[in-house]
Amino acid sequence: MRQDQRALLSIEDAREPFFVGVDIGGTSMKVGLVDDFGRSVCTGEVDADGVSRRFIAIKTDMNPHNAVKLLTESINVLCNRLGLTKSQCCAIGLGVPGTLNPKTQCLRELPNLHGWNGFPIAVEVEKSAGIPVTFCNDANAAAYGEFWVGSAAGKKSVALLTLGTGIGCGIIIDGRSINGETGYGGECGHIIIDSSANAMICGCGVRGHLEAYSGSLGVARRTLELTTRRPSSIRNKITPETRMSDIARIVYVEAENGDEAAIEIVLETAKYLAIGITSILHTIDPDCILLGGAMTFGGNESEIGRRFLQKIIDEVKRQTFIAVAENLSIEFSTLGSDAGFIGAAGLARKNFLDQKTI
Ligand SMILES: [Zn+2]
Repeated sequence: MRQDQRALLSIEDAREPFFVGVDIGGTSMKVGLVDDFGRSVCTGEVDADGVSRRFIAIKTDMNPHNAVKLLTESINVLCNRLGLTKSQCCAIGLGVPGTLNPKTQCLRELPNLHGWNGFPIAVEVEKSAGIPVTFCNDANAAAYGEFWVGSAAGKKSVALLTLGTGIGCGIIIDGRSINGETGYGGECGHIIIDSSANAMICGCGVRGHLEAYSGSLGVARRTLELTTRRPSSIRNKITPETRMSDIARIVYVEAENGDEAAIEIVLETAKYLAIGITSILHTIDPDCILLGGAMTFGGNESEIGRRFLQKIIDEVKRQTFIAVAENLSIEFSTLGSDAGFIGAAGLARKNFLDQKTI
């Protein structure tokens, strides 16, 4: 069941201890309160349609100093609205689209947040909010959310691939998020799937990575290439004004309408993803692979989304050790964009519980 279809939880029905989950994006951030069972609590705010909100959304100019200030203010607002003291929020999970240098506690260069390089985000938030902070990469946070209360609940290990302009990946093994020595653990969008000299160039600048072929820009490039050779209804839909980032969406709609070339592009995307997934399986042997993000071609709700998933499953089975593929589930993720803040809160909770038992 999708998170947005779940009954909204009131603070009276929530179970302490509480954790604050934060998901920082390129132009905005989400701040939500999550209870001990991974349920997001109504913020006490109602939107224009009369629906209670699960998180506070903040638009910012994304100067890191302003972001810390706004984040602290929204945690105060949240506590006031819900009648909580700050001490009832045991920890903050801070999901950021980038990595922290574990030695210096400073952010490395973030592709989507300019001016944050070198900023000690976790230290500053902790100082400002007066609540312990657990830093996490946003992909790992989303994977932990799915592992805790989403599609991978009850599984031992999961790799979540988020499909969009980039291909993000978060890996959880036995409840632990894989960060690596430098913070780049689980960057599976950059697995090499083509080592030839003319392989497609990835967003990171290197040729042949998975993201170059099956991220939305890779899909766009392959679509432009195919539709110069083959008749397709896609051709009429792409104008000089069409942005590369919109082409994957056009492919999805035309594939759903039965256009052969569009279907071929979707299934080819599945094939490339399966190559990357096979490498993940032979490396960490998880019991669950999840696919999320904006580019799932409609997911379970559409026929082409289901064909996309089935093609991945078939290809993975064909090229993976039988024992590894046997009990593996490959599914779409279910928490959607809420996975980030719920998972960040979950990683903060894990840290909090681990420290209590020391
Ligand atoms: Zn790359």
